Amino acid sequence: MAEKNKKIAVIGASIIGLYAALKLQKKGFDVSVFEKNDRVGGKLCSALISKRIEQGLTIPQGLHEREVNNILVHFPKQDIRVSVNPSFLQFERRKLDEYIFNLAKEQGVKFFFNTEIKEIPQGFFKVIACDGSLSELRKLTSKDSPSFRLGIQYFVERRGQEEQIEIWPKVFSNNEYGFLWKIPGKEFIEYGGIGQAGNVLEELINLLDRNNIVFDRSKIKSALIPQGLCFSKDNNVFLLGDSAGMTKPTTGGGVIWGMTATNILINNFSDFKRAEKKIKRFFKPKILKGKLEVKAGYFIGEKLSLLLPKNFSIDADLF
Ligand SMILES: Cc1cc2nc3c(=O)[nH]c(=O)nc-3n(C[C@H](O)[C@H](O)[C@H](O)COP(=O)(O)OP(=O)(O)OC[C@H]3O[C@@H](n4cnc5c(N)ncnc54)[C@H](O)[C@@H]3O)c2cc1C
Repeated sequence: MAEKNKKIAVIGASIIGLYAALKLQKKGFDVSVFEKNDRVGGKLCSALISKRIEQGLTIPQGLHEREVNNILVHFPKQDIRVSVNPSFLQFERRKLDEYIFNLAKEQGVKFFFNTEIKEIPQGFFKVIACDGSLSELRKLTSKDSPSFRLGIQYFVERRGQEEQIEIWPKVFSNNEYGFLWKIPGKEFIEYGGIGQAGNVLEELINLLDRNNIVFDRSKIKSALIPQGLCFSKDNNVFLLGDSAGMTKPTTGGGVIWGMTATNILINNFSDFKRAEKKIKRFFKPKILKGKLEVKAGYFIGEKLSLLLPKNFSIDADLF
């Protein structure tokens, strides 16, 4: 292939940048990753990722903590157990990022840490921007801008044996939707939420209070979750992952959506226009469907939940 060995820059050494770098290096390109922090990992993330991750990566035994088949949803009038198919794998996010980092390094990808990119890097055949929700490269090359919700997390030491993941759907003032969650992990229980900034924080504090948890407000962590597809106007720059707003309108989960968009890009490399078209064709109906499902789900859950079956199954990726 004429493009083989050409130099590619990937901006951001988090999950989508690492995955894109691995796949491009495997395809024969000479990939350099630039990361502003001094190491990989550390992104705020519950790391509940559907088993579809195995379509792009081999997940060795012991990398994930456990497999989760269902979630208990607390609607105002009744609780409903929702099965997830494909099931979720629950990871420790830093461990997963480090695993992909090591695969990429073994493959020959070069890494440059402590390197914050503020301009489009020169001397590269193509630049892949995976620099997260507040992407510099998006600001430099795109007119699109995603909408944002806030994701928050608080960790409590795990004492009992509980395993059940629980969520509480919330309709905030001015009809914004969000939800709170409780996710038992190996050593900690994660309480968290997604929604409008002030409201979701208040709701999380209420949930901690209801569970008699004495908490330290300064240890509540937060990060922005972008939503809405964004594309670069520069023919040599492609946005992926959170920098492109590739997250589910339902849960805000971005890993499978970012990886799927990366696969589409790689399969059409380096025709960015064709990749953009295919990504739009794949995700736009899912974004619409996701938004409608959120509205319908909350309405039925709040007003008509007694009519719902006690147990049903969903594909949480909306595929
Ligand atoms: C509370 C919370 C819970 C979540 N839970 C889940 C979940 O359970 N499942 C799921 O699928 N998703 C979840 N998400 C979403 C998920 O974390 C993101 O979609 C995912 O991390 C996006 O990966 P990314 O590589 O695109 O961006 P990021 O993980 O944000 O990484 C961006 C990287 O770019 C680097 N960077 C930024 N700017 C520059 C620059 N100028 N120069 C160089 N480097 C730069 C950053 O340091 C970082 O390493 C959650 C998010 C939140 C906030």
